[in-house]
Amino acid sequence: MSEYTVVNPATEQAVRTVAGATTEQADAAIARASAAGDSWRHVAPGDRARLLRAFAAEVDAHAGELAALEVAGSGHPVGQATWEAQHVRDVLLYYAAAPERLTGRQIPVPGGLDVTFHEPLGVVGLIVPWNFPMPIFAWGMAPALAAGNTVVAKPAEMTPLTAMRIGELALAAGLPEGVLQVLPGKGSVVGSRLVGHPAVRKIVFTGSTEVGTEIMAGCARQVKRVTLELGGKSANIVFADCDLEQAAATAPYAVFDNAGQDCCARSRILVERTVFDRFMELLEPAVQGVVVGDPAAAGTQMGPLISAAHRDHVASYVPDGAPVAFRGSAPSGPGFWYPPTVLAPVGAGDRACTEEIFGPVVTVTPFDDEADAVAIANDTPYGLSGSIWTGSVGRAIRVARAVESGNLSVNSHASVRYWAPFGGFKQSGLGRELGPDALDSFTDVKNVFIATGD
Ligand code: NDP
Repeated sequence: MSEYTVVNPATEQAVRTVAGATTEQADAAIARASAAGDSWRHVAPGDRARLLRAFAAEVDAHAGELAALEVAGSGHPVGQATWEAQHVRDVLLYYAAAPERLTGRQIPVPGGLDVTFHEPLGVVGLIVPWNFPMPIFAWGMAPALAAGNTVVAKPAEMTPLTAMRIGELALAAGLPEGVLQVLPGKGSVVGSRLVGHPAVRKIVFTGSTEVGTEIMAGCARQVKRVTLELGGKSANIVFADCDLEQAAATAPYAVFDNAGQDCCARSRILVERTVFDRFMELLEPAVQGVVVGDPAAAGTQMGPLISAAHRDHVASYVPDGAPVAFRGSAPSGPGFWYPPTVLAPVGAGDRACTEEIFGPVVTVTPFDDEADAVAIANDTPYGLSGSIWTGSVGRAIRVARAVESGNLSVNSHASVRYWAPFGGFKQSGLGRELGPDALDSFTDVKNVFIATGD
């Protein structure tokens, strides 16, 4: 066990010391999860549903405490952090309805009947990133538990506090020991043990494409199920026939949400050339209006970046002489602050246009027509998110069908909604999370033939 310190990114002060788990401790947790699975999978669906609802109620009762932990440990603005805690509650409630609806099928076949069953996989390993420690934890954990699996979750090393507390709340709600365990530690230790341990039957990974490809290769060695939610370089496409004021007013929130540390960040704004100058005039006050500052203050919209190293990484996309069109504000002094920054014009081959920055930096690029917009939007190995602004229903649907991306919004800057499947095209991921069919990927379908003797 090696101790390390969680740092408040807004103050650079120590928040708490955490004991990172060793490989042996990971093995012990996986063994406990396997043992707990024998009875958890046989808990009657109605009772499993009741336990998940009780768990949701515990999270709800502690939403303020969880939010405060996320403010201190991750630098999320308190309004956002409160929403995130309540989102965990909502995702648990949504999947609490699932155990009682996990039905099979009857398929008449010659000589009898096939019946199908959704069987739990066993132990599910969740590997969670630092950018949304609570929501991303919930998206894997809630459907996995609802389907009758047990879960060992590894939060990101830098942001383990809320997941650890949610693990305690699960026990307080009555979930049996071993059904949900949260194991802080290094990716190279705990994460890779989850991938390599034969008793873990599925990995749910969210993080970088680089690590995701390693995880996929590791899972392949054991034909282990895997869901990958990886990076993005999504486009916010603004056509001249849209409500330009609304498109400009919301564009900052499509990219600077969570200080741009968001896989769904629409970090490339593409604007029809005829309205480009007007859009930039409207965007400037919107960017400067983003309230950046103390995450614990009620009105704050954007906090700091997660670490000094990540701030250096983000700043590398804005070298001296970069085409900064305008910037918002950021506090000076302690904390890993970086102001909302708009780059324009930027060459199509510039790394700010092609690489995921994962910070509050956006590029703005003009396009000539619909085909040009779609071509630029798709000119990336990623395909996670995107927004389309237009007054034409036909164009909205045409462009939405043409953009190679898993999650799009029309005349809205919304991104993930837990009622709908979420996941990426191309190198943005593999498989889908959330939505009504999420339990399909946490179960294996078994078919049983029953001879009728005819
Ligand atoms: P990583 O992919 O490095 O880490 C994500 C998670 O995987 C963390 O829990 C990490 O642990 C763990 N991990 C790291 N290495 C291994 C390994 N070899 N085996 C098993 N688990 C491992 O992403 P970062 O959080 O460092 O973010 C870097 C980039 O990832 C961002 O710039 C962005 O591009 C992308 N990203 C995408 C996200 C998304 O939502 N799609 C979310 C977060 C990041 P540890 O904390 O110890 O490093």
